Amino acid sequence: MKYISTRGNSTEKKSTEAIIQGLASDKGLFIPSEIPRLPIDLSMLSELTYHQVASLVLMSFFPDFTREEIEHCVFSAYDSKFDHSNIVKIEKVGDIEVLELFHGKTAAFKDMALSILPHLMTTAIKKEKENNKICILAATSGDTGKAALEGFANVDGTEIVVFYPHNAVSKVQERQMTTQEGNNTHVIAIKGNFDTAQSGVKQIFADDKLAKELKSMNIKLSSANSINIGRLIPQVAYYIYSYGQLVKQGKINCGEKINIVVPTGNFGNILAAYYGKKMGMPFNKFICASNKNNVLTDFINTGTYSIKRDFYLTNSPSMDILISSNLERLLYHISGEDSNLISNLMNSLEKDGEYSLPKFMLNELDDFYGNFASEEETETTISKVWKDNEYLLDTHTAVAYKVYDKYKRETGDNTKTIIAGTASPFKFSDSVIKSLGYDVDEDGFKNMITVQEKTGVKIPNSLADLEKKAILHSTVINSDNMKNKIKEILS
Ligand SMILES: *Cc1c(COP(=O)(O)O)cnc(C)c1O
Repeated sequence: MKYISTRGNSTEKKSTEAIIQGLASDKGLFIPSEIPRLPIDLSMLSELTYHQVASLVLMSFFPDFTREEIEHCVFSAYDSKFDHSNIVKIEKVGDIEVLELFHGKTAAFKDMALSILPHLMTTAIKKEKENNKICILAATSGDTGKAALEGFANVDGTEIVVFYPHNAVSKVQERQMTTQEGNNTHVIAIKGNFDTAQSGVKQIFADDKLAKELKSMNIKLSSANSINIGRLIPQVAYYIYSYGQLVKQGKINCGEKINIVVPTGNFGNILAAYYGKKMGMPFNKFICASNKNNVLTDFINTGTYSIKRDFYLTNSPSMDILISSNLERLLYHISGEDSNLISNLMNSLEKDGEYSLPKFMLNELDDFYGNFASEEETETTISKVWKDNEYLLDTHTAVAYKVYDKYKRETGDNTKTIIAGTASPFKFSDSVIKSLGYDVDEDGFKNMITVQEKTGVKIPNSLADLEKKAILHSTVINSDNMKNKIKEILS
């Protein structure tokens, strides 16, 4: 299996090379030349641990690593950094199952992939005898940044630079990043939103002149965003693992179909579920949940993707995105792997701010249902689910919960359903405390404590000591200064 670009103008790469490089040289995204089949019988799945499932998935997609290498990465990543021994947890809430993906060090699902990406990257660097220092660039809507910093802090042979939108992430998210320790970590706020940060990073990747300059300093750039295939594939594992767990718990029969609801921003997490289906998992509908920035809802319902619309800062900031990068990978697969077509669509998006799918591709979107929840609906969902079930949702998972509600009302579909629980409610304490009807304090930490006091749910250890930590990063720049900032950091 090789890795090729969605836009067709880059040479084939080994999986190791694709992980080191991050983005293809023609600005496309790397995709596997074929999606592997699940390498075991479905009936075996319920017997496997998280580590076993993750190893199987990674070995299937990354054949250039040995079994020993993959297992070493898996066991180094998924260890006591996670506060749950099964790494992920499934909680029944009303008639759905919440797949809690936030038991890692930074209390959001980004830990699931960013705990392992540095290990995959350093293993790949060794295997390819890469002599250059790798500088990881990440644009973040709040959660990727901290998870990438934790993952790459003090990793030999790497620097990590994170760009986040100033005043557009939650207070806890910001404090998590600005207090980051490590001799190779750099955190920079930019004036703009997540799309500005992500486009800036993509432009830097496409800058041949900069690449040459850095090469002369023995430095190569790579990505920690879900545009990196090494970030995306580890996420396939938890959907497959959780299916086995539902069978084991007697909640479904082996072979029975399930729906998966995902609160979506960059389309990475939901694409990982789709890859699970392509591997042969009995997944039925993928329910794509958006907030008020509902560009994906409109796309799934009409086939037209348009960013010619207002951008909103919402109470689910990690989904405040208009340019959803990984959609490009889905389009590639449903276009019959037509890289010319994908190139044209992406050029229209860049030039005209929109594109429309040709008719034959519209049917292929049938696996997906799209809808959105307003900020008010998000708040009432948090308070209702707390009252009815004593389960505390974060704002992103609440968006997904509400959208599932709409799906059920519209379709009457009773298929067993799991929701990707993407963050601890404490990361968004201000919005959560407001939703529960209490006064919001100026001080984000007071709100965290109030949430704990009022609900009895415990603040995760990783967030509890945040207030005492020194602020080590405070740079704010204009977005057109990103490239110069990188040069300054690396020289
Ligand atoms: C990143 C993030 C999302 C969106 O995930 P994508 O892979 O970008 O679709 C949703 N919720 C939370 C809490 C996140 O951090």
